[in-house]
Amino acid sequence: MVYRIPSAKVLEDSIRKIIREQQSIPSQRRFAELVLEDLKKKNPEFKVGEERIRRMAVLKDLARITIQYRETKDASRRGRCPVCSSSTEELHNLTLDDRKVELGYKCTKCPFWTGPRKRVPVRYIFSIQGMIVPPAKKKGKYAQWKFA
Ligand SMILES: [Zn+2]
Repeated sequence: MVYRIPSAKVLEDSIRKIIREQQSIPSQRRFAELVLEDLKKKNPEFKVGEERIRRMAVLKDLARITIQYRETKDASRRGRCPVCSSSTEELHNLTLDDRKVELGYKCTKCPFWTGPRKRVPVRYIFSIQGMIVPPAKKKGKYAQWKFA
């Protein structure tokens, strides 16, 4: 199958356009569909993965990302952020005797964080920077959607 990878600039333009038009997008899958639709107007052979779109939206501050999680039974471990692949840092507290207690990790770039039990992102909501989205606004319209 023939396909082309859009350059960073071309992809960024499409992401900006979709965010501006939609204001808020309730899932990563929908976001990727819309961006790909726009890319295909430029070149029908363009192909792009959901993760590349998500990382670019976060790392270039093109959209505000809201992350929904599920908590696992596994202990969280330090590593690259699963949302945007930036580095993470420890969250900790001082106890009464001044010892540090590890509480988890948070991303240095995006809103991702996890407690001592590993949290896994299950859904992403993308919205335009600076917009306050009332939580019930899109209710119903996308209620039939399953988690991506
Ligand atoms: Zn991150």
